[in-house]
Amino acid sequence: MSQRRVVIIGGGLGGLATSLRLAAQGWNVTVCEAGGSFGGKMNRWCERGFRFDTGPSLVTMPWVFAELFEALGSRLEDHLELMRLHPIAAYSYDDGTQFVHTTNMPEWLGTVRQLDRRDVDGFFRFMELGSRLYEVSKDTFLRRRPLDWMNATNPAGLTQMPWRYAWGNYHKAVAAHFSSPHLQQLFDRYPTYVGSSPYKSPATLAVIPFIEYAFGGWYIKGGLYRLVETLLEFAGQLRVTMLLKAEVARIEQDGGRVTGVQLADGTRLPADVIVMNGDASNVPALIANGNGHLKAHPMPPAERSMSGLVFLFGVKRTMPEIHHHQVFFSADYGREFAQLWDERRFPEDPTVYVNAPSRSDRSIVPDEGEILFVMANAPANDGEWNEGDIREARRRVMARLRRGGFPDIENEIVVSDVWTPRRLGSRYLMPGGAIYGTHSQGWRKAFLRPPNKDRKYQGLYYVGGSTHPGGGTPIVLRSAQITTELIGRYERA
Ligand SMILES: Cc1cc2nc3c(=O)[nH]c(=O)nc-3n(C[C@H](O)[C@H](O)[C@H](O)COP(=O)(O)OP(=O)(O)OC[C@H]3O[C@@H](n4cnc5c(N)ncnc54)[C@H](O)[C@@H]3O)c2cc1C
Repeated sequence: MSQRRVVIIGGGLGGLATSLRLAAQGWNVTVCEAGGSFGGKMNRWCERGFRFDTGPSLVTMPWVFAELFEALGSRLEDHLELMRLHPIAAYSYDDGTQFVHTTNMPEWLGTVRQLDRRDVDGFFRFMELGSRLYEVSKDTFLRRRPLDWMNATNPAGLTQMPWRYAWGNYHKAVAAHFSSPHLQQLFDRYPTYVGSSPYKSPATLAVIPFIEYAFGGWYIKGGLYRLVETLLEFAGQLRVTMLLKAEVARIEQDGGRVTGVQLADGTRLPADVIVMNGDASNVPALIANGNGHLKAHPMPPAERSMSGLVFLFGVKRTMPEIHHHQVFFSADYGREFAQLWDERRFPEDPTVYVNAPSRSDRSIVPDEGEILFVMANAPANDGEWNEGDIREARRRVMARLRRGGFPDIENEIVVSDVWTPRRLGSRYLMPGGAIYGTHSQGWRKAFLRPPNKDRKYQGLYYVGGSTHPGGGTPIVLRSAQITTELIGRYERA
């Protein structure tokens, strides 16, 4: 085995995937995770027979997950069962309109036609916009660091580029394709998948609804945390050293080359290569002196992606009347995002997402009951989120659900927990609980995220949602592949 040592700061999905890819190539790998469990935001909470995923609830691009297993000489289907969801989600609007979003084409076109017959054409054109963006980005943005795009870009591929809309505003592109206010609100929601506002994002994010429609929304049987458990089994086989409660307080360097890390308890771990899986914006403080980097967040609030407020409810009644994914839209999306982004406060009338994975998978609940993951967008501020704030936010969330006809669960709740932006920020060491690092609003922010290889320090690399290509589980796995390739290129010689 190679004596060259890599220390990975953070045991999130990107850190785990990179550790396995590098260990499979013969590197001596140590993963330092500050928290008490691995997986980062892909986390789990088990209580009284209820098994909650506390982070991601929907995965897309399933082949990206399969690619990781292939890189490890294995097959995803030998370890995990991925389930494609039908329908993807049920939507409820403030005016009482309700329908399901399905990838069954005749069914979905029937729904679109009923909402506004002109939008059938708009839907196809919007999907075409997304598909062209996907064609251009799949071998560039999503597979390589920006510096390497030009070599990879087939000039013929650029003819796919939808120049007319791509550099415009996302919401305006949606409004140009859909007349129905319901479909506009539905498609305006997709930038929130990367913690951004539809009113401030570039139209290039139209690739997100295309990917979901074309390739489906997926669930991992047993809960998404099964992926983390499986990766940990590989880590054992590949002899990766996995440290919990091991917060890296300092990155050491000598003459511009990294030499190791120092943990908060003073332990020193020498390294030839360091990979930051925690939020990239914390690195300057870790290099400077390592003192109190958690308190002084260098990323200003205006640059952060959104956070979220998540309620986890284990309810005792089985509820066949609800769907695996449901969205209850606010009455006025523009106002909701103005409150989130301009006033930087939790919305008065939040859009509420309810994920009930137990509708598709009874293995995660006791005999009876449902798991409800209830989430609303929240700004990534540094505020306190005291008991009063949580109570008021819960009242607004529950009011929205009641208005949408969601069953009254107040007397059915057996176990519950809440993740505020503050808790997200302190558990995963990310500024203000910004789930996706910097936001993707504006061309530069969407495309030129912090690079995977540090520009100044030799041997320092980045992986995960706060670096290129961005957040979301498949994109983070792509980040791990890009970073591993860069380490292979620059550190092996
Ligand atoms: C509520 C919620 C819902 C989501 N829903 C979805 C979804 O439906 N679909 C989807 O694809 N994605 C979703 N995501 C996003 C997805 O979870 C993330 O993009 C992805 O898991 C991030 O992986 P990562 O590699 O960036 O690591 P992270 O999960 O950010 O983990 C980084 C780890 O590094 C550790 N760390 C940081 N600094 C240090 C240090 N100094 N020393 C030691 N350790 C350190 C942290 O403790 C953390 O565990 C959701 C996230 C949340 C929170």
